[in-house]
Amino acid sequence: MDLGIAGLRVLVTAGASGIGREVARAFVEEGARVHACDVDEAMLSALGESDPAVTSTVADVADRDAVGRLFEDALSTLGGLDVLINNAGIAGPTGPVDGIEPADWDDCLAVCLTGQFNCTRLAVPHLKASDNASIVNLSSAAGKFGFPLRTPYAAAKWGVIGLTKSLAAELGPHGIRCNAILPGLVEGDRIERVFEARARANNMDVARVRASAVRNVSLRTMVTARQLADQILFLCSPRGRTISGQAISIDGDTQSLS
Ligand code: NAD
Repeated sequence: MDLGIAGLRVLVTAGASGIGREVARAFVEEGARVHACDVDEAMLSALGESDPAVTSTVADVADRDAVGRLFEDALSTLGGLDVLINNAGIAGPTGPVDGIEPADWDDCLAVCLTGQFNCTRLAVPHLKASDNASIVNLSSAAGKFGFPLRTPYAAAKWGVIGLTKSLAAELGPHGIRCNAILPGLVEGDRIERVFEARARANNMDVARVRASAVRNVSLRTMVTARQLADQILFLCSPRGRTISGQAISIDGDTQSLS
């Protein structure tokens, strides 16, 4: 299927590894032009080696000055913007709410939710000038279920749904669509770190935690970053032109996170 996105100008946050890198690569494979940011300078320079087509800026999405510099770089490199992928997110602390350090709560919300606002507010004036403008916000299955011991992350990811639906309604008349992607268990290092933290918090074996998480998925599977990237590319292509305001789960039909 030709998605018709050659030349599309795309900004991906947290693009040096994980889901963001897979999304950046998938766009490049289809002929799009991609600028990425990441807070990790070493990972970003490794990306420059492995994926020279992706230009980049070191930036923490929670830092408004750094996001300002990111947009200066991205806009001068790409010459405008058609797509913003608000991908950056951190797991935040795992533990009972009365044991969570307020600073850890603040950090999780600052990256997972406020970071999306920080980037969106600078992207919108440029997206208005595009004839195929799209924002994709990474939420999570934690954005539709209660998630014991992960209150800051779940609060942020539910917040992403509210942000997405509000942006879709507000920006739709300007021809900008906005959707949220809710990944479930995504194969990779991050989910293994999450399983380890959960095992520690519950005094359980990691293998048991992993098996029990997969049992909560109807299809009894994790998903891959490439499956998320495929959906994101479709949404941002002209074929996805009438899809906006949606919270799309790509999670094998996850039933709960408890
Ligand atoms: P990850 O933990 O693998 O991190 C990817 C990149 O994010 C890293 O290179 C890291 O340096 C960068 N990063 C971290 N904080 C940043 C910041 N403040 N500013 C810029 N870059 C930053 O993440 P991932 O698994 O690829 O997840 C990407 C998104 O998908 C996140 O929003 C996450 O919450 C969401 N998600 C992931 C999963 C999963 O199982 N992996 C499940 C549901 C939702």
